[in-house]
Amino acid sequence: MNKKIIYNYYDGFVDFPNKYSLTLFFSGCNLSCPFCYNKHVNSDTPNFSINDILEKKHKIEICFGKHSIGIVFSGGEPTLQNNFEEIINTFVKSNPLSIHTNGIILPEHPNKFQSVILSLKTIDCGIPKNYIERFKNALYYYNSCELKQINIVKINKYMNEYMEYLDILKEDVDNNGFDIKFIEYYKI
Ligand code: SF4
Repeated sequence: MNKKIIYNYYDGFVDFPNKYSLTLFFSGCNLSCPFCYNKHVNSDTPNFSINDILEKKHKIEICFGKHSIGIVFSGGEPTLQNNFEEIINTFVKSNPLSIHTNGIILPEHPNKFQSVILSLKTIDCGIPKNYIERFKNALYYYNSCELKQINIVKINKYMNEYMEYLDILKEDVDNNGFDIKFIEYYKI
């Protein structure tokens, strides 16, 4: 838990209603989206270990109370970590968890997450051939989460592709209660 695997972290009140959220940006990704807004997270040297984050968490808990924090796994792609299950288990006993993922790799125990944001990608991102099937699986896999959302970065060039994907996925999205959110793209 001393290895540096996290590029940065952000604390705020976005992901968990009535809780302080600590969002961890894990380094590295298994896709290479041309519009990636976190390219530096994927390519630059990571700065923090899980132990660093536990220290930060402890300080926040001293100020706000023991059950005041939700942990958000983001990136990059958090599921790429070899010891991801161990990392999940380190936090899940005392904190609600959320995951932001492209859905290609599925963690062992989806029911440990209270909320999930799945990011739908396009063929320009180096996605595997069976991506849409995998994404469909992910919708069922994370079914037990209380808050479920699909994020789509809104880029004109890719909109037809996204809409085709959404047609294919429509029934699965509805069956599993996912909300779809389009996010405006601002080139950084
Ligand atoms: S999946 Fe997300 S983090 Fe990975 S390259 Fe695409 S936009 Fe960037």
